[in-house]
Amino acid sequence: MSELGPSAVAAQDVQISVDEARAHIAQALVPVEGSQQVSLDQALGRVLADDLLSPINVPAHDNSAMDGYAFCGADLLANRDTVLRALGSTVYAGQPFAGTLAQGECIRIMTGAVMPPGLDTVVPLELCQVADAQVTIGAGVVRAGDNRRLAGEDLTAGRPALRAGRILRPADVGLMASLGYTQAWVKRRLRVALFSTGNELVEPGQPLPPGGIYDSNRFSLMAALQRLHVEVLDFGLVPDDRHALAAAMTRAVSQADVVLTSGGVSAGDADYTREVMEQLGAVSFWKVAMRPGRPFAFGALRALGHAGSASPGGSAPAQRTAWLFALPGNPVAALVTFYALARDGLLRLAGAQSEPIATLRVRSVQTIRKRPGRTEFQRGRVEPGSDGQWCVHLVGSQGAGILRSMSEANALVVLHHDQKSVEAGDWVDVWLFDGLV
Ligand code: AMP
Ligand code: MG
Repeated sequence: MSELGPSAVAAQDVQISVDEARAHIAQALVPVEGSQQVSLDQALGRVLADDLLSPINVPAHDNSAMDGYAFCGADLLANRDTVLRALGSTVYAGQPFAGTLAQGECIRIMTGAVMPPGLDTVVPLELCQVADAQVTIGAGVVRAGDNRRLAGEDLTAGRPALRAGRILRPADVGLMASLGYTQAWVKRRLRVALFSTGNELVEPGQPLPPGGIYDSNRFSLMAALQRLHVEVLDFGLVPDDRHALAAAMTRAVSQADVVLTSGGVSAGDADYTREVMEQLGAVSFWKVAMRPGRPFAFGALRALGHAGSASPGGSAPAQRTAWLFALPGNPVAALVTFYALARDGLLRLAGAQSEPIATLRVRSVQTIRKRPGRTEFQRGRVEPGSDGQWCVHLVGSQGAGILRSMSEANALVVLHHDQKSVEAGDWVDVWLFDGLV
């Protein structure tokens, strides 16, 4: 495919860096409205809609952090052993001690048990000697206040325990339960209409005609979207035909917040794609200075409410808009542009607090050639080296269409816009696939 398409196409294409593309997308998008209540067992990965206030102090009472003996720290003697008289009973978690202790007394206590009134210190069992109801604590073994958790030390009643926009992780779900909540208010799921374009594409499961290839992008992208906990509307395959494309776009906009496509944005197809986009909205076609994945289109699409889910009751059709992310067709380019350009935008639309993709620095075991002036994403495996230090090596062929090496990889090596070639032993940035979305 020629780099120089028809002059009109070349003239309109804007060459921008990955950072510029990301900044433009972030600045254009506004989070969707709407929230819903879900039970905690459905809350994982959802976006918290409002700040979640703690209704209680956690812990609710001062309690012991150890199995040991509780006493009053003022009874500790300086520079010599302290000998305390142990009461006969034990304080267990969930069974507060009703009595009071006199000066010089202590009581056996288990982890999590409420500190009896007036006591503020616990000596762990393994740090004291017990004989004939006498507990001996060596000089300097504990200080007053040790091994006691204070009421409200984790969370204070009335203060936010989790902030709006939080993507709920296992610990967050547990935290909500620890506050007594059974439900969470979360943002409604983002609806993403997904389709693949290309006359050569065949649905997996069907016979493969000469020249045909199975549509893989829809499935890799669907899987990547599932990790973002969005609702995926599968619009299937769309041929390279302006009417078919316009119809699919219109239907997608009427039902979804986002239209995610692959294929049809590189020079050979861009003409009619662009024509359709111009009818439907304001879309920018970018040549993003990155490899793989150069062609990319982003913008807002309009569709009148009559085209599909019309508003019930005969009211005036609402004009819906949806955001288009049009990814290149090459299978690796489609996934890399999804991670590098679409992922953050989708999270922002979903109402999530922006969390940059976690970037780790590891040593490259090999030389990697790199030209300054574009961001390059190379498929690699991050593994512990023979010296125990984590390092990365490239896997397989790096061609934009070779999905197998993407599948063998567990990370992308991110070679930044201005970065030059990497020598063996140099530090490089990587994005691990797991944890990425
Ligand atoms: P395009 O961006 O439409 O020019 O496509 C670039 C390359 O990616 C071509 O070789 C296509 O056959 C291939 N391709 C496009 N879409 C898909 C898809 N959904 N699944 C697998 N390969 C694709
Ligand atoms: Mg194509």
